[in-house]
Amino acid sequence: MHCPFCSAVDTKVIDSRLVGDGSQVRRRRQCLECHERFTTFEIAELVMPRIIKSDDSREPFDEEKLRRGMQKALEKRPVSSDNIEDSLSHIKSQLRATGEREVSAKFVGELVMGELKKLDKVAYIRFASVYRSFEDIREFGEEIARLQD
Ligand SMILES: [Zn+2]
Repeated sequence: MHCPFCSAVDTKVIDSRLVGDGSQVRRRRQCLECHERFTTFEIAELVMPRIIKSDDSREPFDEEKLRRGMQKALEKRPVSSDNIEDSLSHIKSQLRATGEREVSAKFVGELVMGELKKLDKVAYIRFASVYRSFEDIREFGEEIARLQD
């Protein structure tokens, strides 16, 4: 790519490393003309599957909505934003890995629960209790008992 300082055409890569859960490549480049250095990020452009809701309607995958849902479950919990972002990127790569054009909202919910379970048990229970709308207290109790194993 062109040098952002002098617009020279030739720049060379001097360092290359994976960032963001390995889904991005960060490159340090140097201009062969003016020798200035700059950084570029490379990320695969992949289409996320569409979401099939419980009423059978479809909606586009909404990362922001997913983030808000997780943040709400994790409210006042000792989990850093970095950890939440890692979980989000993990969920997204699992969604892409399905290779499906459409996935059910239920499937996404299960992925979120899997991530929350690793991040914070309290957040997991919060999310699961809303998401799964536990039919009775017994079922909820069983879920908590499973967590304690
Ligand atoms: Zn230059």
